Amino acid sequence: MAVLDLKSKLAILSDAAKYDASCASSGGQRRDSLDGKGVGSTEGMGICHAYAPDGRCISLLKILLTNFCIYDCAYCINRSSSNVKRARFTVEEVVDLTLGFYKRNYIEGLFLSSGIIRSGDYTMEEMVRVARTLREVHDFRGYIHLKLIPEASPALVLEAGLYADRVSINIELPKDESLTALAPEKDVGVIKKAMGGVRLAIEERAPQKKDRAQPRKYVTGQSTQLIVGADEAADGDILARSENLYGSYGLKRVYYSAFSPIPDSSSRLPPQKPPLMREHRLYQADWLMRYYGFERAEIAGPGQNLDLAVDPKLAWALANRDRFPIDVNAADREMLLRIPGLGVKSVDSLVVLRRQKRVRLEDLKKLCGSEKKLRPFVIADDWTPGPLADADDLKPHLPREAAPQQLSLF
Ligand code: SF4
Repeated sequence: MAVLDLKSKLAILSDAAKYDASCASSGGQRRDSLDGKGVGSTEGMGICHAYAPDGRCISLLKILLTNFCIYDCAYCINRSSSNVKRARFTVEEVVDLTLGFYKRNYIEGLFLSSGIIRSGDYTMEEMVRVARTLREVHDFRGYIHLKLIPEASPALVLEAGLYADRVSINIELPKDESLTALAPEKDVGVIKKAMGGVRLAIEERAPQKKDRAQPRKYVTGQSTQLIVGADEAADGDILARSENLYGSYGLKRVYYSAFSPIPDSSSRLPPQKPPLMREHRLYQADWLMRYYGFERAEIAGPGQNLDLAVDPKLAWALANRDRFPIDVNAADREMLLRIPGLGVKSVDSLVVLRRQKRVRLEDLKKLCGSEKKLRPFVIADDWTPGPLADADDLKPHLPREAAPQQLSLF
C-alpha cells in the first residue's frame, strides 16, 4: 500500500469527518493562556472561524484518526465494504497538526472521531492518547471534542472525559430496529449504557455551587447525532428519540443531519437526500422542547412529520386557534412563549417592558423586528385581531418564510 504524506491523509480524513454534525463548541469550559503558560484558548480575539462550502462549522480541526473501520454500517462511507481511499494518522501527527493549526490561528480546537480499528478499546486508547498528550505534554487549553467508542471499556470512556470539553456518541438512527437492520454490529444497549455512564460521571464530578470558581475536572457535556431520512422514521419518531435522550441521559444537544447518499450504497438506503428544510424544522422543534416548554407530543406524534411549509410553533398555533388571541399585557410567560414570532429574548424583554407601561403593537414590532406574524395571535393595548382571529385560513395573511438556501463563501 502506498505511503501517504500528511497532506494527503489530511485531505482524506477531514473529508471523511464532514458527515458528523455534532461538533459545536458551545457551552465548553473557558480557558486561556493569557498567563503566558500553556497553548491555546477556547475563546477570545484572533481565533479564525471558517465554514465549509456546505455551511458546517470548521473552526475546529475536524478529522478522523482513521477511516479504516471493521464495522459495516450501511449508511456510512467508511464502512468496511466501502471502496474509499483509506488513511490513518498516528497520535503524534494529530497532536502536531492540532498545535500547528492552532498556532497559525486556523482553529480553536480539535474534533476527533475515528473508524474502529482492531477493537473499540484499541481505538479509544489511541484517541485518549491524543487528548492526553495535548493536555499534559503541551498544556493545550483549546477545545477538545472526542467521539466516544461505546464498545470501549468504561474506564477508557471515562478517561476520555478527563481531557475533553465535550464527548459524543452517535446514535445515528432514530429507531432501534433501523439501527439493528443498518448497523448490525452496533448494539443500542451498549450505546445507551455508555451514555448513561458519561451522564453519571458528569453529574458526580460537576463542581458544587460553592466551588463554582474551581475549574471543572471533567467533560462538561455530551451530545449525539441523528441521521434524518436514512430510514422510515418520521419526524415525530425522531423527536421522541431526542426527548428520551435529553431526559434519560442529560444530553446537551441532539444534532440532526440530513442523510447524504453515499457512493455504492446499500439498496436499503434511499437514493436521494431528504429536503434540507426537514433538518431545519427538526432543529426548530428541538428548540421548542428545550426552551419554550413544549411537550414533544404537542409538536409531532409517532409517525407524523413536521409541516415543511410553516415552522412548528406556527403550525401548533394554527392547530390550536382556540388558545388565541393572547393578551400580551396579561398572559403569563409560558403562554407568551407560544405566540408565533416571539422568541425567548423578546418574551423576556416584553415581561420587563410591561412592568413600565401598557404594551402596544408598535412595542412588539420593536421587540421582534416585525409584528406581521403576531397580528392574528395577540391582543395589545391598541390592537385586537378582529375577524382575523376567526379567519378559517390564516396562512395567506401571514408573512411568507424565505426558502432556505445553502450558504456559500464562493
Ligand atoms: S462504526 Fe462508525 S465509522 Fe465504522 S462503519 Fe459504523 S458509522 Fe462508520
